[in-house]
Amino acid sequence: MKLTFPHMGNVYISVKALLDTIGTDYYMPPPWSRDNMQRGINNSPEFMCLPFKKILGDFIDGLEHGADTILFGESCGRCRMNYYGDLQTKILRDMGYRFDYIHLNLSSLTYGEIMSKLGPLFKGTGKALAVSAVTSAVRTIFAVDGLYRAACFVRCRESVKGSTDSIMLEFEEQAGRARGFAETRLALSEARVKLSRVATDARADPVKIGIVGEIFMLSDMFSNLEIEKKLGGMGAFAVNTMSVSEWMKKHFIRAMLPVKPRDKAVAAAQKYMRAKDIGGHGIYTVGNAELMCRSGFDGIIQVYPFTCMPEITAQPALGEISEKNGTPVMTLILDEMTSETGYVTRLEAFTDMLKMKKEKSSAS
Ligand code: SF4
Repeated sequence: MKLTFPHMGNVYISVKALLDTIGTDYYMPPPWSRDNMQRGINNSPEFMCLPFKKILGDFIDGLEHGADTILFGESCGRCRMNYYGDLQTKILRDMGYRFDYIHLNLSSLTYGEIMSKLGPLFKGTGKALAVSAVTSAVRTIFAVDGLYRAACFVRCRESVKGSTDSIMLEFEEQAGRARGFAETRLALSEARVKLSRVATDARADPVKIGIVGEIFMLSDMFSNLEIEKKLGGMGAFAVNTMSVSEWMKKHFIRAMLPVKPRDKAVAAAQKYMRAKDIGGHGIYTVGNAELMCRSGFDGIIQVYPFTCMPEITAQPALGEISEKNGTPVMTLILDEMTSETGYVTRLEAFTDMLKMKKEKSSAS
């Protein structure tokens, strides 16, 4: 068996460590590949959302490199992700590829489901090693997301521009070369130490911008055109509310708890949506925007791919949230035609406006 899997942000670091540990043969598409994206675009229905096209492009690359099994998770509330797997399988089979498909149902993911669905990968691996490898993979997802959050905190305060970016680039290269969890953990701890030593401006008081929106776009730096890095470079503290670890907390860890804690974001969204689910993670877009406005964020940016139904549903509520809280909100809709220059201009204009607003209110 030779496995392939699509990229979604930095999850590949954990998946790669897991597969190296259990000794599964795999092909990992490059995390940043315009060619793969183009292959996905060429073979997808035009109206499909960007994540579908990017994932399909990674599948084609994997199958072209000899993979015979695809690992993918789907189903995320009421949105077209529910039929990603069926449609992508049909497209790929029509293109002549033959493969097996390991499909993880993300909306009801449990430890048992992971162990049983990944069973073929664990053939020849002891049960104890399989359990410990899955546990380490989950922990690594949290650790990697924690590192990227720390980078956002430091980047907007650094005294020498680019210090944070070079540490993160080094980390990505080291994690890409790492074999197994021990080497991945080493890369993580070295990067954490380096970040803690970055010289920062103690007087810096950056504007705080909350990023809400569709989970794939928010967690995949390639797809969101590195929004965290760009905002940080403009001197704004970017707080990304959607990451794979956040998703795991909400859907995987929460599902294992005997008593479910109240979901603050879903509760906060009720004032505007009167529904607990509007598909995808739209309800979190609304709830997190409201919570961040209440806690004094200077601005909110919603990011989603063109034609994303849940985020289109959430968007009008953000206007109301902005008006009620007096917090500026900007929506960025991305597709394969998005110009990076236009994107940067909008981010710069929004950040500058927030800085002026903040200066004005601290002067008065
Ligand atoms: S949430 Fe939006 S972008 Fe994501 S799969 Fe659903 S429709 Fe597509």
